[in-house]
Formats: sequence, C-alpha cells, structure tokens
Amino acid sequence: MTIPVKPKALSSHEARDFKMLIDGRWQAGDARPIERIAPSHGVVVSRFPAGSKADAERAIAAARKAFDNGPWPRMTASERSAVLLRAADLIAARSEELAYLDAIEAGKPISQVRGEIAGSVDIWRYAAALARDLHGESYNTLGEGTLGVVLREAIGVVSIITPWNFPFLIVGQKLPFALAAGCTTVVKPSELTSGSTLVLGEILQEAGVPDGVVNIVTGTGPEVGAVMTSHPDVDMVSFTGSTGVGKLTMTNAAQTLKKVSLELGGKNPQIVFPDADLDAFIDAAVFGAYFNAGECCNAGSRLILHKSIASEVVKRVANLTQNVRVGDPLDPSTQVGAIITPQHFDKIAGYVAKARDGGADVAHGGGTLDLGMGQFMAPTILSGVTPDMAVAREEVFGPVLSVLTFETTAEAIEIANSIDYGLSAGVWSRDFDTCLTIGRRVRAGTVWMNTFMDGTPELPFGGYKQSGLGRELGRHAVEDYTETKTLNMHVGSRTSWWMPQKEKL
Ligand code: NAD
Repeated sequence: MTIPVKPKALSSHEARDFKMLIDGRWQAGDARPIERIAPSHGVVVSRFPAGSKADAERAIAAARKAFDNGPWPRMTASERSAVLLRAADLIAARSEELAYLDAIEAGKPISQVRGEIAGSVDIWRYAAALARDLHGESYNTLGEGTLGVVLREAIGVVSIITPWNFPFLIVGQKLPFALAAGCTTVVKPSELTSGSTLVLGEILQEAGVPDGVVNIVTGTGPEVGAVMTSHPDVDMVSFTGSTGVGKLTMTNAAQTLKKVSLELGGKNPQIVFPDADLDAFIDAAVFGAYFNAGECCNAGSRLILHKSIASEVVKRVANLTQNVRVGDPLDPSTQVGAIITPQHFDKIAGYVAKARDGGADVAHGGGTLDLGMGQFMAPTILSGVTPDMAVAREEVFGPVLSVLTFETTAEAIEIANSIDYGLSAGVWSRDFDTCLTIGRRVRAGTVWMNTFMDGTPELPFGGYKQSGLGRELGRHAVEDYTETKTLNMHVGSRTSWWMPQKEKL
C-alpha cells in the first residue's frame, strides 16, 4: 500500500509575510492578508496581500505607463536579453528558497521542485536567446521604388495569470517571453501559492527590470483576475488554469478584443498495444499518473489498454505503485506529496466514490492516507472504467488512474478522442506504423511515443479542443507576444492608378 513518509512537524517555522509589487514598490494591501496553510503540515506558512480591484487597476496603469513611455520596449534586444540572463543566474542562486516555497505552499516533493526550478532557469535562458532573434520580414519585390517591411512590435500590456500546481515553472513559461518581446506585465499567481512568484519579483528588480514592467498583484481570481482580463488598457491575457476559468477569461477579454493565450485542463490517454515494451511502459504509467500527485494538466490519467494485456498491465502497475513514496514534501525521498486543499481532496474522493458506484473496481488505493497531519491520498487505480463515466471524461486532478480497454486501433482512437480535452497523449508499441497512426489521429497538442511527459523549451506545448488556445515555448514563443505592423514605403513620385488621367488637376 505505497510507502508512507510521515511529515515532521514544522516546529521552528514562522509564517513568511509577503508584499506585492506595483510600479516598483512593495505594498501590503489594505485588506487582511490571505493565509496559506501548508497542505502537508496543516499550519500557516505564508501570508499574501489580498489585492483589491483598485490594486489591479493601479498595476495595469503602471504597466501601461511603462509600456507607452518607459525604457523597456525601447531597449535593444541585446539589452533585454542581458537582463533575462542575469535573472536566470539569480533564480539559480536562490533556487533552494524558491523550491522550499513551492514545496511547502503546494505540497509538492522538494526533489521534484528542485528539478522544476532548474528547468525554469533553462527556460529563462532560452527566452534570452530568442529575444535576440526576434525579427520581421522585408519585401523588395513589390516594384521599383517600393519596399514592404513587416515589423514585429511588442503587443503591449500583458496580464499573466497562473495556477497553483507548478507555481514557478508556469510563470516562467510566460513572463520571460513577454519580457523578451518588450512587453510590460501584470502577474497574478494563484492565491494558494504566490510565494515563489513574489520572490521572482525581487529577482527581476535586482536583474535590472525597470519599475512598472513587472507588477505582481496577489489575491483572488474574481477580485484581481477579473480586472486583469477585462481592463481596456490590457492588450493580451496569457492564462493557465482550469477550462472553466479559461472560458470566463476569453469572455471577459472579448469585450475589448484582447488577444488570449489559454493553457487549460487535460485528461490524457496512454494507449498501449500488445507489442509494447511493458517494462518501460509500467514505469511511465506510474510516473504519468502520480507525478505531482496527479495534479498535473499532462497527467496520463487514462490508460487505454489492449484487452489482451489489460489484466497483466493492471497487476504490474498496481505492484509498482506499492513502491511509491507518499508524504512529506520536504523529505527528498518523497515522490508524491499532499493534495492542495481539503476541498480539492473531497472532490477527488467524490470521483472515486462515483466510479465505484458505477461499477469500476479499485485495483489499488482508493482513499485517504493518514500520515498524522495534512491531506494525503493513496495512489489509486480504477479498473473496469467505461468511456461514459465521469472519471474517464473529466479532469480529476488527483492521483487517480482510470483503466479502459480496446480491441481495435480504431476503437482506441475513438475512445481517446471522445472527450472535450486534447492536451497530450501517449502511445506504446514497437511498431512504427501503429505509433504514427495514433500520433496523427489522436487530437492532442503533444503525442509521446514510447515515452511520457518529456519536454524541453524548444518544443511547443499547448492543447487542442478545450485544452487551450495557442502554444507556449518553442521558437515562436516570443512572437506570440507581438503584433505585426506593415510599413509600405514608396520613394519618388507616386503613380496614381485610381483617378482617370483626364480628371486630374
Ligand atoms: P483555476 O482556473 O481555478 O485558477 C487559475 C488562476 O486563475 C488562479 O490564479 C486563479 O486565482 C485565477 N482565477 C480564478 N478565477 C478567476 C476569474 N474569474 N478571473 C480571472 N482569473 C481567475 O485553476 P487552478 O485550480 O489554479 O489550476 C488547475 C488547473 O490548471 C487544471 O485544470 C489544470 O489542468 C490547469 N493547468 C493547465 C496547464 C497547461 O499548461 N495546459 C498547466 C497547469 C495547470
């Protein structure tokens, strides 16, 4: 039944008080701060300002002023790139502090978060490199004396809204690219996990980002986020979070026709054929389902197994799951941490109960893991799941793996595509034709073949269908934060073709 890692009491820990950053000044806000209770330890570990609508408006005004009149959009790409590189070095220097904050506020295993911070440093450096390669196009083929130039200009003020499951990594998939383009920003981290983003604010000031270019307003979505997605002075919204709030974001942004980039939920299938390397797959199945306690947009939460191997695979996945270490996020040996809030725990447990009632079997786990404090859930495997069950169609966002079966390739594709999400998928087979068929036919932004959840900053990431709009990372990541402007230039006297010659003065 998995290996429990009991949390040690945080005896000497004192909650850290944070301020938010508006126009280069750190401010506490007027309301009572938001207290963050560590999901693993049940004690308050951080206090964030409860930003108001007025705070959001002041931050947008600061970003607008910095964009319209400040130095950042007018610097050379080389100068902006140098600031981003300095930021990357400073992130690396403060990585232990950042890792601790994400681990304790989100309940994520510290060794995993260390990897995320290191990955983030790499992304900041990648953005710094792309900054220097941002360019438009020119056309000298439009006729003698005419030159067409297509500029790429920073889009303007960007609202960046992030979720709690990868607090530092996700702000790093947006902010450095927006900055590389010359944009100014208002950032709102999740009210549950704002600490590392606020430390990033200090880092960016030290790296040389001018006042007003990065504003960080903490607080709730309906209060702060709603202003950031609807204010007429915001030009673009870059949002990562649930599909429901993504739709709300798009609706709000539509009133002033802002550009939106949406990274939303997923319910990702791993399709396994009888000729697959099962040793490799079993490991990837356990990793895919329980990494980040399954609170991961990319979680491989649906196994679609060929009928002939289903019972063997379920048995082997369950056996390996017994060796997963669940518990104290601050223990470097922990692989699965705590569930983000008690309310979210109840939601996950509700999905498991409903699936059981509907006829699914619990092949492993199924409920609470009592470790004396915090909220932990045993990694759970549900077999005998059918495509119509909620647990097979909706994002559970917890350590729950649903097992479905198929007989023909066409059926596997149909099951994979039968839901509203299309973020990612995996296919396991030693046959190239099979992998390529699945790779082409499954409607998802990423399809892994004989691997799962690998990624590098060079590869674009994002969703089909209701998993999102637009792509992050990849070589076009900076361009997403630009507008194109056409300069159509003419030298010498212009020949009129429109007014008949005789009517000319
Ligand atoms: P959420 O949608 O509840 O919140 C995300 C952010 O939106 C938070 O900062 C929140 O305060 C803010 N928000 C809430 N209401 C708002 C409103 N009315 N207006 C503006 N902002 C508002 O999501 P969450 O629970 O924090 O995160 C989990 C979700 O994020 C999952 O669905 C997961 O799949 C998704 N996610 C997607 C990706 C991806 O890259 N596709 C990555 C990570 C997480």
